[in-house]
Amino acid sequence: MKPLKFVVITLFAACISLVSAKASALKPSLNRAAANAAAASDKLDKAAAVNGFCADLVSNIPELQMQQCRDAGFKPAKLKSSQGRPLIMRDFTPGEHAAVAPQTSNGDANASAKGGLGRAPRILLIGGIHGDEHAAIAVVFQWIERLKDDRQRRMVWRVLPCVNPDGTLAQPSTRTNAHKVDLNRNFPSPDWNAQALTDWRRKTGSDPRRYPGPRAASEPETRWLMQQIKEFKPDAIVSVHAPLNLLDFDGPQPPPDKLGFLRLEPIGVYPGSLGNYAGRHLGMPVFTMELPRATQPPSAAQSERVFTDLQVWVNKNFPDAQERS
Ligand SMILES: [Zn+2]
Repeated sequence: MKPLKFVVITLFAACISLVSAKASALKPSLNRAAANAAAASDKLDKAAAVNGFCADLVSNIPELQMQQCRDAGFKPAKLKSSQGRPLIMRDFTPGEHAAVAPQTSNGDANASAKGGLGRAPRILLIGGIHGDEHAAIAVVFQWIERLKDDRQRRMVWRVLPCVNPDGTLAQPSTRTNAHKVDLNRNFPSPDWNAQALTDWRRKTGSDPRRYPGPRAASEPETRWLMQQIKEFKPDAIVSVHAPLNLLDFDGPQPPPDKLGFLRLEPIGVYPGSLGNYAGRHLGMPVFTMELPRATQPPSAAQSERVFTDLQVWVNKNFPDAQERS
């Protein structure tokens, strides 16, 4: 017969090994639960950030509705504005009516591209690079209403409705960002170092509304836009402005005479402008839509004609995009 002490020790060891075996069996599921909880909390944080930003936007731009902004499906980028505001975005990808793969569950066009969406032409739509041009943001929201309709989606759209949130939400709104930089003079075009600051002093008399920044791409909002261009690889970029009431174009393709009511009227090239950087330097067509008024958007019908003409031009100029892998 074994001594009692030995039996107790053996039983104790058996219990320990049973408990630790159970614990290690539980560990993966506990880790999974913790990861799920963290992901759920991250999702809630992002939704709260977007909703909070929508509330601020709606209270400053009377043409926008809270529900419209909240339901648009925006997600915040990892990068934030100079003052920590969310930089929001949304991809709209062709649906069942187009002969390409359907949208992924998270709406990420780049993730979907592997499934064939790279074949559809890609448009990057930018609103509010100048914070005091509220009509530009309102037009982007008018177009989002079109893009919500699956049948309108023959192309992949990446929509950045308010790329200068600090300027837009400043009281009063400012053209520049929180660092008083004109983001549309801050892109690293090849002539920036030689000309941006000297042109600003000489040609604008150091106009504070047109300050190009201490150096090219000094601003987080500029760097975010550059990152979007690099990742999304648009076939065309549309940046909405006001109030010059015209269409400007930079890029290698022949421009259209007009988009809807906006007639082509080139306004020149500036060091650090998006048209200079993406249109001339990167060789992408850049449409600069200058609406007639800074605070009042065009009618829905006028806006729709511009939207339609843009798609006609893109289809005409990128027919091979349908075949591209
Ligand atoms: Zn502008």
